[in-house]
Amino acid sequence: MAMAAGHMMRCGVVHPGVFPVLLPKIHRVEKIMSRGSQVIRCQVHDSRGFTTVQPKIRKVEEIESTAGQVIQCRAAVAWEAGKPLAIEEIEVAPPKEMEVRLKILYTSLCHTDVYFWEAKGQTPLFPRIFGHEAGGIVESVGEGVTDLAPGDHVLPVFTGECKECVHCKREESNMCDLLRINTERGAMISDGQSRFSINGKPIYHFLGTSTFSEYTVIHSGCVAKIDPLAPLDKVCVLSCGISTGLGATLNVAKPPKGSTVAIFGLGAVGLAVRARIAGASRIIGVDRNPTRFDKAKKFGVTEFVNPLDYDRPVQEVLAEMTGGGVDRSIECTGNINAMISAFECVHDGWGVAVLVGVPHKEAQFKTHPINFLNERTLKGTFFGNYKPRTDLPSVVEMYMNKELELEKFITHSVPFSEINKAFDYMLKGDGLRCIIHMDG
Ligand code: NAD
Ligand code: ZN
Repeated sequence: MAMAAGHMMRCGVVHPGVFPVLLPKIHRVEKIMSRGSQVIRCQVHDSRGFTTVQPKIRKVEEIESTAGQVIQCRAAVAWEAGKPLAIEEIEVAPPKEMEVRLKILYTSLCHTDVYFWEAKGQTPLFPRIFGHEAGGIVESVGEGVTDLAPGDHVLPVFTGECKECVHCKREESNMCDLLRINTERGAMISDGQSRFSINGKPIYHFLGTSTFSEYTVIHSGCVAKIDPLAPLDKVCVLSCGISTGLGATLNVAKPPKGSTVAIFGLGAVGLAVRARIAGASRIIGVDRNPTRFDKAKKFGVTEFVNPLDYDRPVQEVLAEMTGGGVDRSIECTGNINAMISAFECVHDGWGVAVLVGVPHKEAQFKTHPINFLNERTLKGTFFGNYKPRTDLPSVVEMYMNKELELEKFITHSVPFSEINKAFDYMLKGDGLRCIIHMDG
């Protein structure tokens, strides 16, 4: 049986929950085929012609819009520090002014989630919904949101861009006054309330994103609208780690052609440091986990140093290997000693070190001031200095133009119901990124 196309548009079949691949501006719906209350497939025109698509959720009644309503859905709730997450039925309130509600389709795990879940060197805030590296679709928008609409494909970002403050107006900064990263905040900026609850009890947000939930509410300034043709199960890793490593090189370290670069920490962030793209000739990987070295070779890392193999500071080893120090070093470990080594291993006169790892709350960076007087530079960056809304769409285009191989970073995938496995992989240092499929 076929229903008229008009019916489909009217009752919002283009609603993302039903047809994740359909977008009103791109696809013209011709026909839907249904059996009883089940939508089987639908035929659409897009810029490339006529295609048939199959909906992910097939019940016609699910076509109804959920805008303005509380949504009940599954979320992985962290009830206590270091305890496995529990998949719970939660309520997600509608977005308020300048907020959007997203349907998350894919999320991945970054080490920053793990630090705050372990809460060893970080402030404990529980129950909390973690997750900040993800891809999804706008379900509904709150008052005042004009540049996002239901159906838009988006990447949420842990640090935002209001486009109005002094930082947003300056080219060199991405530290938005209103929406910059805040690891301590567990609620929405506008009213200090959570949009998540379980049996009436609020659950804390994390980094303003909380993507370990089928639906989440985010400030619209922390959401980058991207090419709807980009596969969200791949580009979701650009919403944090990979863009951070990439930007740390291209925007911050900027190694001159032919330079020697040291990368501390060969996880996904470290391996996204695309020193080769930027023109480095020697790339030295430093990691305490020797199983990282084989994988790193495939990313163009040419030499390896394991600090545990030496009984002297690794900065001395690197200085010896390079005739006085590396030209650039990029730290992606979160370990304070590695941060100090990454600074002290750069060449005097011109060397630049960039800190990327998220440190322990109590960490203190200690080095002799003579290291600065000797003309070494120390920098740090969040999100590789990219302005999330302005710059992220073009990073996605790098992938679409085959200039970035995101597949190499995706070493595992698990259904949402098995999200705790992703934590096990990260804690064991097994693989790089694990994609969590929200429909599983
Ligand atoms: P990961 O766990 O996959 O990788 C970290 C690597 O560092 C591991 O291979 C580990 O063996 C290595 N390591 C740890 N301590 C070390 C030491 N002392 N010396 C040498 N190697 C050491 O983590 P990831 O997801 O790639 O994240 C890396 C870091 O970047 C984390 O601290 C994370 O919080 C941070 N991060 C920062 C930003 C930002 O915007 N600044 C964004 C994303 C992630
Ligand atoms: Zn991250």
